[in-house]
Amino acid sequence: MADLVITNLHVSVEGNEILKGFNLAIKQGEVHAIMGPNGTGKSTLAYTLMGHPAYEITKGSVTFDGKNLLELEPDERSRLGLFLAFQYPIAIPGVTVANFLRVALNARRKQQNPDDKGFPIPAFRKLLKEKMALLKMDNSFAGRYLNEGFSGGEKKRAEILQMATLEPRIAILDETDSGLDIDALRIVSEGVNTLRGPELGILLITHYQRILNYIRPDFVHVMYNGQIVESGGAELALKLEEEGYDWVRDRFDEKAVLS
Ligand code: ADP
Ligand code: MG
Repeated sequence: MADLVITNLHVSVEGNEILKGFNLAIKQGEVHAIMGPNGTGKSTLAYTLMGHPAYEITKGSVTFDGKNLLELEPDERSRLGLFLAFQYPIAIPGVTVANFLRVALNARRKQQNPDDKGFPIPAFRKLLKEKMALLKMDNSFAGRYLNEGFSGGEKKRAEILQMATLEPRIAILDETDSGLDIDALRIVSEGVNTLRGPELGILLITHYQRILNYIRPDFVHVMYNGQIVESGGAELALKLEEEGYDWVRDRFDEKAVLS
């Protein structure tokens, strides 16, 4: 059973400390939601875990399946079974969704077996069709250039399709709900719920409680100022929905002033 263990993580961006002693452990099969106000470091955490070079780790450790994640390149992290669905997916004009996914899968096969000649096209087509059916996506999606001219909902569905195809063990979903109308939110959430299971751990990063009505988390963590300041079950999300983040600010800022 793979797990991701983040211990006392401190991360700076351009000399500013953004993560200030972040702790979290997540196992395959668990769904953890991280909720927090904007600017609190949620995307910084996601990028750091995936190995973005702009984020400087000054202290702490992250292990995945017992291995030191922080010394691995992003592609090595991916091959270990870590996946990030971006808050702002970028467009790749000229590269179709199908080709993008085939290249990603082939790179992985090649790593496992240097003599691999790549996914036979018919088998790949079959796989992609299955995954798209799972996510209720039209077949025409595969032939479009990745994220080029996609609606907000389509971009997020393309991220979930990548997740379905790469079959990670731990997936980080960074504000997969942002910019979605209620129908798109429901479709994307259904996709995630379809993939949910004992083999997949999910770190669901969100600003709003709304998505948690569709994807019920096992654990909810409130993040503020680069740290987790409170953890609980699904009910903690409802408290945030009712009371907003003011009580977090009040409590945390007061503590900062007194200490
Ligand atoms: P959240 O996702 O919780 O809204 P972020 O992690 O995106 O928060 O940002 C936290 C803080 O770090 C912000 O003040 C933001 O301006 C800063 N920051 C994040 N990434 C960068 C970057 N690549 N360059 C400069 N500042 C950054
Ligand atoms: Mg963010």
